Amino acid sequence: MSSLSVIDPAISTLIDQETLRQRDTIRLIASENYVSQAVLEATGSVLTNKYSEGYAGRRYYEGQENIDAIERIAQNRATALFKADHANVQSYSGSPANLAVFLAFLKPGDTVMGLSLPAGGHLTHGWHVSITGKFFRSVSYGVRKEDGYIDYDEVRSLAKKEKPKLLIAGGTAISRIIDFSIFADIANEIGAIFHADIAHIAGLVAAGVHPSPVPYADVVTSTTHKTLRGPRGGIILCKEEHKSALDRAVFPGLQGGPHNHTTAAIAVALHEASQPQFVTYAQNIVKNSQALAQHLIEQGFSLISGGTDNHLILCDLTPQQVSGKIAAQALNNAGIVANCNSIPFDPRKPFDPSGLRIGTAAVTSRNMKEPQMIQIATWIHQIISDPTNESLQNNIRNQVKELCVSFPAPGILIADH
Ligand SMILES: *Cc1c(COP(=O)(O)O)cnc(C)c1O
Repeated sequence: MSSLSVIDPAISTLIDQETLRQRDTIRLIASENYVSQAVLEATGSVLTNKYSEGYAGRRYYEGQENIDAIERIAQNRATALFKADHANVQSYSGSPANLAVFLAFLKPGDTVMGLSLPAGGHLTHGWHVSITGKFFRSVSYGVRKEDGYIDYDEVRSLAKKEKPKLLIAGGTAISRIIDFSIFADIANEIGAIFHADIAHIAGLVAAGVHPSPVPYADVVTSTTHKTLRGPRGGIILCKEEHKSALDRAVFPGLQGGPHNHTTAAIAVALHEASQPQFVTYAQNIVKNSQALAQHLIEQGFSLISGGTDNHLILCDLTPQQVSGKIAAQALNNAGIVANCNSIPFDPRKPFDPSGLRIGTAAVTSRNMKEPQMIQIATWIHQIISDPTNESLQNNIRNQVKELCVSFPAPGILIADH
């Protein structure tokens, strides 16, 4: 027996159950993935015992010889992979990384401009419930009603009118390529700092499957746990001129000691993401997403923007006359896990919106391909056509479990089904 199961059987049992849930379900939550065994090992290491306030070579506590080396490796791998001047790898996650950008460049009350939450933006891009919307003056752009794409002309005219000091691009429910060069031009025209948030698409950017904002943006933030397939964490990439402002914003501006176990796991994930197999992985994420989108359309689903260029699909379930929450719950009962999501101009409330968000990063990590995407689209159609049918859900749940046996999940060693 492991010491965890002896010392804390309640938590141990729940971790075991979660392992089986991740093994036996089709995980379509667009922000989730399966990390490798190597990343898990680094995350669960003794590095969690060490305090290291400061940066490599300039720490407040002694005993940093290994930590400094780990953090420098993580930084060097990040700058090499993304071709950036500088990387800060200490942010606790994507949200604090974004807050560090605000702290580095703005004073309270300054104007920021980002994509609105209902249009697919993130809370930390100035939405009113977030500190970024409460302590700053926030202006939001949206997407075009007709086609669901970002309207760059609207972004430009709004930016010229509102004069934000910080212009943010990126989002959580954007299924199309973002043209970072246009955002950079607009930011230049008004003298704003341009911040690209690639939390969702970092793995695709690293693999060259989505255009990189690094040549255009003053600062790029990302999570490390979505398509990049690392531990939960954040990275900040920036031009040399902004390096000290951003480093000071992270520490001592926002945080104390960095999470060294996470830094090590980020380094491992960045190493994995620099391998040729990762390029194939990222290409397959997009192929799977496009296959799934096409087969959903064939089954009568309406997709925001009509399809996808990345890992993400946003379905409008209005034609099905099923709410996003009901659909997501019915799918979950059948072992297919996605999340309900607002759609642009959603007439419904955020807790029970009209949309369903789907992503292919995790199923692609299990090496699923187009035949499985066709199967998944068919199941989604069957379940959403009859969302209260429990015997259908149980039946599909068993088939899902069977499919999962043939596609082992990285990092999950329990093989007996
Ligand atoms: C996920 C996400 C974040 C926040 O990341 P957390 O690690 O959950 O704090 C920030 N920005 C975007 C665009 C995201 O998708």
